[in-house]
Amino acid sequence: MGSVRIPFNRPAMLGPESTYMAQAVASGSICGDGKFTKRCHAWFEERLQVNRALLTTSCTHALEMSALLLDIAAGDEVIVPSFTFVSTVNAFVLRGAKPVFADIRPDTLNLDEQLLESLITPRTKAIVVVHYAGVACEMDAILEIARRHNIPVVEDNAHGLFGTYRGQELGTLGVMATQSFHETKNITCGEGGALLINDEQYACRAEILREKGTDRSRFFRGQVDKYQWTDLGSSYLPSDILAAYLLAQLEQSEQIQQRRRQIWDRYDEELGNWVDENQVQTQVIPAHCSHTSHMYALLLPNLEVRQEFIQYMAKQGIMTPFHYVPLHLSRMGLQLGGTAGLCPVTERISDQLVRLPLFWSLTDDEQSDVIEAVKAFRVGQAKWFGEPFIRRAA
Ligand SMILES: *Cc1c(COP(=O)(O)O)cnc(C)c1O
Repeated sequence: MGSVRIPFNRPAMLGPESTYMAQAVASGSICGDGKFTKRCHAWFEERLQVNRALLTTSCTHALEMSALLLDIAAGDEVIVPSFTFVSTVNAFVLRGAKPVFADIRPDTLNLDEQLLESLITPRTKAIVVVHYAGVACEMDAILEIARRHNIPVVEDNAHGLFGTYRGQELGTLGVMATQSFHETKNITCGEGGALLINDEQYACRAEILREKGTDRSRFFRGQVDKYQWTDLGSSYLPSDILAAYLLAQLEQSEQIQQRRRQIWDRYDEELGNWVDENQVQTQVIPAHCSHTSHMYALLLPNLEVRQEFIQYMAKQGIMTPFHYVPLHLSRMGLQLGGTAGLCPVTERISDQLVRLPLFWSLTDDEQSDVIEAVKAFRVGQAKWFGEPFIRRAA
């Protein structure tokens, strides 16, 4: 295997990040909820019109906060896609919940809304959706089912910042939503996250949980004369130094998104023929969704070809990693009731998917190299065993 010439990701760094971080350090206070954190909160509240935005140390922690806010307890069931990152599920399992794994649609790779109702039981306490690669789930159908059964919906919006569903911003559709600013995400501060509260009944308690279970935030606003332990909680505040980095990224998010969109569109245009000729598929983006250019994924015919592709690209120094391994088949998932065949689409897609390098600082020449390398890869017909399964989005 050659050395890495084109990595899968480089975190975006536009310049003002270091200026802001230096300002945070010079300010003499670098703990959480400082000036930069407050500016990030205001930015989200204005840009997305959410009731409350709270920075957290990670999306994982924002998900843990959402499980606390929804009073998830032992014996509760939470419906989650199996095709997601561990934290989407683990945050709820930490509270004692049993994950009920939902399969995904083969076109959008999102939780299959047609299966949702059959998974609901009297114990269902939450539905967690993931907008894969920033392509929205079918939220009208999901929210309608959730409303009828009176079950809150949480959006794990780690991929979905700036995506829309029928014109509405992702992250504003569930009772709350979680964001990630891990360095692999579009907007980053290395490690970080946010909890976005849409249903205001959760706002006050969210502040308390995030401040170690104390009413410290209300104390600082002069709403109570001393602060005390009032609820469960933990330490979920990032340092203001990280918030400084993040604010710089948020302020330049249009530039970041625009460049990512250019790269995504070029892949789509220039690989179109190769995709058709080689029985490769790509994620379907419904007309009513605008995606976030978080990822450009290829679905190769099967696991064998996919592995061959990854090795072939790696030999040329180009990293094209696979993605989620079905959670219901992980060691933990199996202990929690997962079995082979439970989510057949997830199982198949997980074997087929690879992701191409897509990041803000990818140069045109680097992208040309990736495209040329992909186009020179021929999928042997003999290895194709999949039946045509694509179901086009409505
Ligand atoms: C990245 C990611 C997370 C975890 O984010 P952290 O900020 O690293 O905790 C959770 N869910 C999804 C869907 C992700 O992609």
